[in-house]
Amino acid sequence: ATTPPQPLVVMMPTQGMGHLIPMIEFAKRLVRHRDNLRVKFIIPTDSAPTKTQNAILRSLPSAISYTFLPPVSLSDYPFETTKIETIMALTILRSFPSLRSALHDLITSNSSLVVSAFVVDLFGTDAFDVAAEFNIPRYIFYPSTATCLSFFLNLPKIDQSVQCEFRELAEPIKIPGCVPIHGRDLLDPVQDRSNDAYKWVLHIVTRYREADGIIQNSFMELEPGPVKELLKDEPGRPPFYPVGPLVNLECGRTGVEGEENSECLKWLDEQPAGSVLFVSFGSGGTLSSAQIDELAHGLEMSEQRFLWVVRSPNDKVANASYFSAASQADPLAFLPKGFLERTKGRGFAVLSWAPQPQILAHESTGGFLSHCGWNSTLESVVNGVPFIAWPLFAEQKMNAVLLAEEAKVALRPKVSENGLVERAEIASVVKCLMEGEEGKKLRYRMKDLKEGAERALSENGSSTNHISHLALKWSNYYKTKTTALPN
Ligand code: UDP
Repeated sequence: ATTPPQPLVVMMPTQGMGHLIPMIEFAKRLVRHRDNLRVKFIIPTDSAPTKTQNAILRSLPSAISYTFLPPVSLSDYPFETTKIETIMALTILRSFPSLRSALHDLITSNSSLVVSAFVVDLFGTDAFDVAAEFNIPRYIFYPSTATCLSFFLNLPKIDQSVQCEFRELAEPIKIPGCVPIHGRDLLDPVQDRSNDAYKWVLHIVTRYREADGIIQNSFMELEPGPVKELLKDEPGRPPFYPVGPLVNLECGRTGVEGEENSECLKWLDEQPAGSVLFVSFGSGGTLSSAQIDELAHGLEMSEQRFLWVVRSPNDKVANASYFSAASQADPLAFLPKGFLERTKGRGFAVLSWAPQPQILAHESTGGFLSHCGWNSTLESVVNGVPFIAWPLFAEQKMNAVLLAEEAKVALRPKVSENGLVERAEIASVVKCLMEGEEGKKLRYRMKDLKEGAERALSENGSSTNHISHLALKWSNYYKTKTTALPN
């Protein structure tokens, strides 16, 4: 008897836990929908994988496998000044030879294998060229908002019509379905159009329309305007599949710093329901030393309970640990003198990495001071935890605007003229969220969003239906096509 064809989806994330984690969640749901479907992660790198990456990948179900491509060299680019978008784009380009041979080996190793889809993330569209050599359909997994995706799809046009920097525009930019966005609130890499990072982003997004589909981590109730718009048929725009909120509920458990992980959960167990503010800036966010000092004093002055993931400061950039998620020096040494003693019992500090999904799901957690990374945002939404929005880099300012002004589930502290959020402001916003009337209102609205998320992911929910459509399409793909080796 001949072996039945083995459908396989290849996924290729760029650097950053915020890209890997939701793609893994998507993969897990795909293989749950179709028994015969397999997923393989092929991961380009510019350095050795981190402990956290390894821990998460090792805990995958057997239908999902992974391989790291050999690290590319970027030594011709200055480490200090090269932006993360440039690093990601170059890592993809320079991984072409190893990606090509990984795909070749995969296909020749198993004659029944049919690669049904090649899924890149928001910065990976250049790799479409390699997928095309093998005649594999090409998809984008977009791990951020539908608002940001709409901006990306429109950027080539906007780029041609605007001559100045976007932040110099007097009028906000209008994108179909989205609330008008001020140039100054747009994502980081488009803030300096002369920088390489902008040129890379523009180039990468110009290729979005080549995709056979765009999968995105959101749902109608969270972003009704842009989701509705993107679901419309528009000639030349790929089909759109909003599949969110896909969040990891286990990654903390398998993460690094295991001992400390369970310590902070034990501490949470002892706190009253809804009383703790969780403070975290994602996998890569860092604050300046002056800002850490203000934040510590602000938390102390607020007299509220808090659980803080502390990282060493970086006075130059706000994403200093993006590629490592670990602090270089002892982070606690940078806290104000006596801070830990004075807040003992009421506050708890975790070093570098915490079991965030479990913390947000814990009933003692009542608020989240967050950098507004989209995964963190969704993890908070599924648990109904309202925010203090403290954006740092990437598209986080756009997310903060969405959360504070549109969805109205976040408070946004004021930044003073010296560029810092000062201690009195922090104390007042924290108090307002945790015990004020305003906080109560945010909590109610968050409950609506949480219920919307549950509906989207329920058995016949919109996101589940999109995932099951893709799983079916990809598991039956061999009936129409075979994977070809390049000539
Ligand atoms: N995360 C975590 N523990 C930490 C920091 C981050 O588990 O101490 C996880 C978090 O739950 C989320 C992801 O890492 O799933 C961060 O993604 P996000 O999009 O929020 O931010 P980014 O790290 O990309 O800035």
